[in-house]
Amino acid sequence: MQLRLLQGVLEAVRAGIIVVDAEQRIVIWNQWMEQHSQLPAADIQGKTFGEVFPDMVDGRTHIAIRAALENNFASLLSQTLNKAPFPLYANAVDAISGTRMQQAVHVMPLEIDGLARHCVVQITDVSLAVSRERKLRELASELESQTLVDGLTGIANRRRFDLHLDDEFRRAKRNASPLSLIMIDVDYFKDYNDNYGHQRGDQCLVQIAATLGSVLNRSRDLVARYGGEEFTVILPDTNEDGAMQIAETMRAEIEGLQIEHGYSGVGKVVTVSLGVSTLVPEHLSKTGALIHAADRALYQAKRSGRNCVVMYTDARKKAE
Ligand code: GH3
Ligand code: MG
Ligand code: MG
Repeated sequence: MQLRLLQGVLEAVRAGIIVVDAEQRIVIWNQWMEQHSQLPAADIQGKTFGEVFPDMVDGRTHIAIRAALENNFASLLSQTLNKAPFPLYANAVDAISGTRMQQAVHVMPLEIDGLARHCVVQITDVSLAVSRERKLRELASELESQTLVDGLTGIANRRRFDLHLDDEFRRAKRNASPLSLIMIDVDYFKDYNDNYGHQRGDQCLVQIAATLGSVLNRSRDLVARYGGEEFTVILPDTNEDGAMQIAETMRAEIEGLQIEHGYSGVGKVVTVSLGVSTLVPEHLSKTGALIHAADRALYQAKRSGRNCVVMYTDARKKAE
């Protein structure tokens, strides 16, 4: 009675069950296996694992079966290394196109009193779980790519900066109004990280971001984390003088935080260098020009000793 029940279970179970004897001959091949391999049990029984699956000889599943039979060793074959070791198919269409089902494969030794050691191979269809996981991963990365906030500092991220700069650039073009940009880079920040640790470095960036933000008053002004230890500020309707004033206030506020930096080349506290550029965009102007100019000015600020503000002036303008 119990044996019949067990047989019923073996047939009802929604997983592939293969039992292999000590000589690697297949002695049980359940209905699920028949259905998904399209090989009837009658054709399989008595054949060795290698005869039924010649392509799998000495492969990872075969090695796991030998380890179970010879060393009493159980294994779960990792999905990442081989998603579909057995030629099993969800349905006839997939079988024709050769699209295998995604499998989780457990290989377990089977010790039964009075019998030589056997081995059970259990195969489950994980296609659904795998595709659900892939969808979730895609969704997560899509959400990440749509986020506008920097994860560390909570201020705008690079994406928000790009979008906002495009908007303001267009508006400035329409109104023929000046648009200013400040590029900010922390001085000797590598030395800060190297000496105080990455965590203190992160805290420092959080404090700097908050301080830069606190200097701005107008709703369309925006401070963003440009990347690493670089920040950028968009100042619509702001001319050179106004932008220089804000940049200088930012510089002084950061110095005023008095964050100890014993390894800076400019002083005893954390400081920033700032490059400023201003443009009244014309018909053909591009945002890249404004960014490039602020970048050049920042480079000059670094060269002039750091902890200072430099306004971009191009060589032609200077010569006039
Ligand atoms: P300079 O005065 O010329 O700007 O020198 P620097 O050391 O600041 O410049 P560099 O660009 O060589 O180094 C930037 C360093 O900033 C590298 C890295 O240690 C640190 N950094 C960048 N992003 C992060 C971050 O997200 N967290 C932390 N803790 N450190 C960062
Ligand atoms: Mg830098
Ligand atoms: Mg730096």
